[in-house]
Amino acid sequence: MDDHIKQRIREIGGEAILFDVPAREYTTFRTGGNVEAMYRAGNLQGLKHMVAFLVDEGIPYLVMGSGSNLLVRDGGFDGVAIILDGSLASVEDCTVAEPSILAGAGLRVQKLVEYCAEKGLSGIEFMAGIPGTLGGAVAMNAGGWGKEIGEVISEVTVLTAGGIVETRDRLSLAFTYRELDLPPGAIILNAKLGLRFDKPAVIKKRVASYLKQRKERFPLDMPSAGSIFKNPEGGHAGRLIDAAGLKEKAIGGAMISPKHANFIVNTGKSSASDIVALMDLATVKVKEVFNIQLIPEIKVVGKE
Ligand SMILES: Cc1cc2nc3c(=O)[nH]c(=O)nc-3n(C[C@H](O)[C@H](O)[C@H](O)COP(=O)(O)OP(=O)(O)OC[C@H]3O[C@@H](n4cnc5c(N)ncnc54)[C@H](O)[C@@H]3O)c2cc1C
Repeated sequence: MDDHIKQRIREIGGEAILFDVPAREYTTFRTGGNVEAMYRAGNLQGLKHMVAFLVDEGIPYLVMGSGSNLLVRDGGFDGVAIILDGSLASVEDCTVAEPSILAGAGLRVQKLVEYCAEKGLSGIEFMAGIPGTLGGAVAMNAGGWGKEIGEVISEVTVLTAGGIVETRDRLSLAFTYRELDLPPGAIILNAKLGLRFDKPAVIKKRVASYLKQRKERFPLDMPSAGSIFKNPEGGHAGRLIDAAGLKEKAIGGAMISPKHANFIVNTGKSSASDIVALMDLATVKVKEVFNIQLIPEIKVVGKE
């Protein structure tokens, strides 16, 4: 990105622009190189303006939620990371006959879960404890305990790379395991969730139970990005990695968690390449021992 482009980005984004931002401050892995520029979009108008400029100039951009499923390689990301904030992170109860809410993609899932519990709206308790934003959850079709967020989504509104805001209903959304099929460059702006009524106290009890189970099962005391690999059909990536003898295997500062073998944890000074090297090792070993190809769940971006 040359100085002229940086100046234009600064003119469009103003105070909401930062340059050379360390990815470790914005990803739960707490590692990675620098992001060339970061734009915190507070409203749709500003976001549209910025995206139009970036598309015209051919500058790559990447939406970042909480960076809880993201690894930025050590060489950093050349382009603009976009964070959704302000009116793009709000929530409103739009229950008419059927209980439903409309929430901005930048809203934290945790806040959404708490909001729904307070309002007596049930259906997303299973998302309790999953870090990240609603946009990230929808893009990743995040879930747990046999459920996925796609199951409760009735509409998703996106900003396309061509600058068009379009709302897609359930039938036109292709959710699959840990994926939502979206056109390249599309940014999720908000999502509507179809829920059901229940007593706040009962919902809160379910939320607490999910949180407790997550604490018991996952290594939440160390930086990670959750499950590294998707579960292969009919199996568990963690069990395969464990059975391949890789539990506690470390490369540099990255280690396969002794608590859950599908988690790679940053033990303090892991580089992104340590994590990638462990991912490569697990992929090769599991293929060798079980003839099963592991597919990463996390998104790896940037240059080495
Ligand atoms: C401790 C821990 C536990 C976890 N447990 C689970 C779990 O149980 N189940 C599960 O599914 N996941 C889990 N995860 C992974 C992660 O939390 C989820 O995938 C989460 O939904 C990602 O949200 P995010 O906002 O952090 O997205 P990010 O990591 O910032 O981004 C992930 C991807 O989504 C894209 N994206 C983000 N926002 C938008 C948007 N508005 N529009 C378009 N694309 C967008 C990004 O470009 C990127 O490709 C866990 C992670 C951690 C650290």
